Amino acid sequence: MEIGSPSCELCAQPGGAILWQSAACRVIRVDDPHYPGFCRVIWNEHVREMTDLDPAARIKLMQVVFAVEAVVRQLFSPHKINLASFGNMVPHVHWHIIPRWQDDRHFPEPVWGKVQREGVVARAVVSNEELATALGLALGNNEQGQ
Ligand SMILES: [Zn+2]
Repeated sequence: MEIGSPSCELCAQPGGAILWQSAACRVIRVDDPHYPGFCRVIWNEHVREMTDLDPAARIKLMQVVFAVEAVVRQLFSPHKINLASFGNMVPHVHWHIIPRWQDDRHFPEPVWGKVQREGVVARAVVSNEELATALGLALGNNEQGQ
């Protein structure tokens, strides 16, 4: 595995408000008014591709991704969840968990696609603390154990 790269923004910074973390990875909230439950799961080490992780680590990472998906579904009641991992801009393994609604800004395009409609639709208001508590229940609060 590669050592942290000084030019990598996910090595240099958390990447957002940290909701949950373990020795292996962290869950952050993306500050986007159009997608209020948008979270990212970021592997802590600078790893370029999923297949650079050993099989057990891949499973561990996806267990966190799926737990975040379940919590976002429960708290935000989206029509759809988009899971995505690109890393073209920041080649450091991370997953996007994006709640989608049929009347959101880009639906049915990806959130990086062409804007389909303007305006911000009111959604469930969930604080970082509530989201962090729900993630802690889903994933365990042991910061060292994952
Ligand atoms: Zn990195």
